[in-house]
Amino acid sequence: MIVNFYKIKISMSKIALITGITGQDGSYLAELLIKKKYKVHGFVRTNQKIKKSDHYWRLKKIIKKIKLHLVDFNKDYDLKRLVKKIKPNEVYHLAAQAHDGHSFKNEFYTLNTNFNFTHKILSLSKEINPKTKFFFAGSSEMYSKNIKEKINEKTNFNPKSAYGIAKTASHYLVKNYRENYAFNSSTGILFNHESPRKGDEFVLKKIAKSVARIKFGLQKKITLGNIKSKRDWGHAKDYVYAMWLVNKQNKASDYIIGTGQLNSVEDFLKKAFKYVGLNYKKYLIIDKKLFRKKDSLARIANPNKIIRELKWKRKFNFDNLVKDMVDNELKKFKN
Ligand code: NDP
Repeated sequence: MIVNFYKIKISMSKIALITGITGQDGSYLAELLIKKKYKVHGFVRTNQKIKKSDHYWRLKKIIKKIKLHLVDFNKDYDLKRLVKKIKPNEVYHLAAQAHDGHSFKNEFYTLNTNFNFTHKILSLSKEINPKTKFFFAGSSEMYSKNIKEKINEKTNFNPKSAYGIAKTASHYLVKNYRENYAFNSSTGILFNHESPRKGDEFVLKKIAKSVARIKFGLQKKITLGNIKSKRDWGHAKDYVYAMWLVNKQNKASDYIIGTGQLNSVEDFLKKAFKYVGLNYKKYLIIDKKLFRKKDSLARIANPNKIIRELKWKRKFNFDNLVKDMVDNELKKFKN
């Protein structure tokens, strides 16, 4: 019998569909899945022009290795046609209006994007192939802002924003699909994670950029709000690896994904400046206007379940995160 090994190899490679592929996590996840020999498809909203815009800067390295599809999540027919055509084995639903703060300003848009779209893509994935593995990106914003103990999978939800409400409702939907339809759907409840690919409006990215600019004499000072503010910050590369581990298993479940450690903005500031041989105190301006009216108590993750069950191990500690973000900014000027 003649066996066509080439064909066998092709048919065995998995097909992944990533929504939110242009974002920080989507781009790292696509890179990881390509390394793992997946065929990667990504949904891109219709108002963006594929390949022609700076909008795809995060996908530059892999743009030729992935297949992007323009899609309007409001058009059910298009969505169905595409999922049917792609036939994914694994879906990673990351697309979201991802700014918690903005969600107060536009509740209807946030709920539509973060809840209704989740419902559509979840339901379609099950309808088209009930064996699909489905990962949904939840958030620490699903919890109250006043929890002192570490948050685990049993902690009660108590969201305080349209963003948090949409994430919590979506999580319950994902759980119900798992329990009622035996669908392999999981939520990864993600705590804050950063990287060189984070949006410029976020504080750690702002610091990393400023450090490089100050080092090269292009900027004199950095203005920040409450530098005592703390978060459980990890590196996005570790978090997308966790997403893959979650979808790899045969028994779906929900997992807290965080570091279990708190650091302040000041910790990042101090380490970032020290990394380039400077003392942050000489360059810092504190502006009280930048303080949040209601800055939350720092929520802290207990990631023991994912460490124990899926053997998740982080490659980046806080020092490596600082180094990676600052190095990336320095590189831009050195080039
Ligand atoms: P980004 O903001 O970097 O990316 C968000 C992605 O969602 C982008 O691809 C964006 O597309 C897409 N998107 C936004 N609105 C729409 C829409 N209306 N229709 C279609 N696509 C849309 O977020 P991250 O990569 O950092 O986050 C990934 C997921 O993880 C999100 O669900 C987020 O809520 C969640 N999460 C992230 C945390 C973090 O610290 N990063 C913490 C907790 C949860 P476009 O490029 O066109 O804007």
